[in-house]
Amino acid sequence: MSTVPHFINGERVEGEGELPVFNPATGEVVAKVPVPSPAMVSDVVEMAIEASTRWRSSTLSSRTNILFAFRHLLVEHSDELARIITREHGKTHADAKGEVARGIENVEYACGLTEHLKGGFSSQVADGVDVHSVREPVGVVAAITPFNFPIMVPLWMTANALASGNVVILKPSERDPSVSLRVAELLSEAGLPAGVFNVLHGNSATVKLLLEHPGIDAVSFVGSTPVARFIYETGTRNGKRVQALGGAKNHMVVLPDADLDIAADAAINAGYGSAGERCMAISVLVAVGGVADPLIEKITERLDRLNVGAGDDPSSDFGPVITREHRDRIIDYVATATDDDITVVRDGTGLAERPGFFVGPCLLDGVRPGTRAYDDEIFGPVLGVARVRDYAEAVGLVNSNPYGNGVAIFTRDGHAARAFSRDVHVGMIGVNVPIPVPIATYSFGGWKNSLFGHSHIYGPEGFAFYTRAKVITTRWPQPSESQIDLGFPTTR
Ligand code: NAD
Repeated sequence: MSTVPHFINGERVEGEGELPVFNPATGEVVAKVPVPSPAMVSDVVEMAIEASTRWRSSTLSSRTNILFAFRHLLVEHSDELARIITREHGKTHADAKGEVARGIENVEYACGLTEHLKGGFSSQVADGVDVHSVREPVGVVAAITPFNFPIMVPLWMTANALASGNVVILKPSERDPSVSLRVAELLSEAGLPAGVFNVLHGNSATVKLLLEHPGIDAVSFVGSTPVARFIYETGTRNGKRVQALGGAKNHMVVLPDADLDIAADAAINAGYGSAGERCMAISVLVAVGGVADPLIEKITERLDRLNVGAGDDPSSDFGPVITREHRDRIIDYVATATDDDITVVRDGTGLAERPGFFVGPCLLDGVRPGTRAYDDEIFGPVLGVARVRDYAEAVGLVNSNPYGNGVAIFTRDGHAARAFSRDVHVGMIGVNVPIPVPIATYSFGGWKNSLFGHSHIYGPEGFAFYTRAKVITTRWPQPSESQIDLGFPTTR
């Protein structure tokens, strides 16, 4: 049984494998992950601080060259990277390639670092006085990432953090850790100096040690809401800047005028793609007025044609979920739905008899606040239908939900779509787009329990998060202009 090594200071570092990594399509353990000792965590942070003193002084052109080379290597290796993801995560190869491509976008954005790190200059703000601003790296960044996007989310953080002159310690998910090792190797091959990007495996205890270490300056976290809240509170209590993105319950509102075939296709893609294990997956379909029955009919026709199987089988539409425990948790939501007067229109839980961690598509009609299937993030191939009378009730439902990651509206009415995008308290909105993940030139972030801290991730807010501002006020007076004046300096 192989153990996935750490990648520290430019080298693979072996550890004793403690945590099992499964192939979710077979249920077999395919590797083990080490958990570092507290002394090792501390040594890695000290090494990172040392590396940071050099990397922060690297030229912008050298960083740009490395990121361009890294981008080319990611493109060249995208098939291999996708295969590693499929083996440990379970998503289909096509889906994994999509994740790699969306990760590469962030590297491409970071390649424009000379523009993103440009400061400001104001000449003659007072007589003989100029002001300019620069942005400097924060230092050492801990990047703590979830299982569901094992390359894209690390690249959300890493590309901009490195471009800004920071050193990164990535603590990837222990469920699918192998691809982060290849990312580290490709960064080295691209010319990144040793110690600037490190992969330190581990579990919640490892994360806690990073959060408490005084040498960590900033923490980027993506994962579930309870952990995001803990990371934010612990990290900020320890004096770090923290961005902590949490879970979600994303609604897709279908107005009576929508094209129901388009809406049904979108609901299938966004509700069941990647077995529903996307933070931007649609989990609640909000059927307005009379659309519920015809829409459910169109969705069930499509569901019955879906093929659930191993991610490396090209005929699979979606693969297994991440672990046996998670599969059983999803099954329990479906099994208990009728207790809440919810109708189980399609029950895919019979696939649990297969080896591996499979759940087929499930469709629940009548989910509403106060029912488990509505209130909790299930994170599986389970779509709930909520029936509402009108637009106002739909917006009320979306806004009273404690999460605010993504939301979509399906309509042919531009006026209603515009009103909706202004009315909802959600960070990312799709108009006839069910998974509105912003491109890398915008930043990604939800509201409410989907984000702790004010900073969205990647894009312009990423560069702002990974840098600190300095403002320099300059005057070159002639001796004749110098005088004693104890008044507070003004520009007047
Ligand atoms: P998770 O919260 O269980 O784990 C995320 C990371 O935190 C992992 O690296 C894990 O080792 C670590 N961790 C777990 N428990 C911890 C604890 N008690 N203390 C400290 N660290 C801990 O999340 P997951 O199951 O890997 O990922 C799925 C979740 O992530 C879902 O809730 C999903 O919505 C969310 N997610 C959100 C976004 C977003 O952008 N908002 C994106 C992807 C995933």
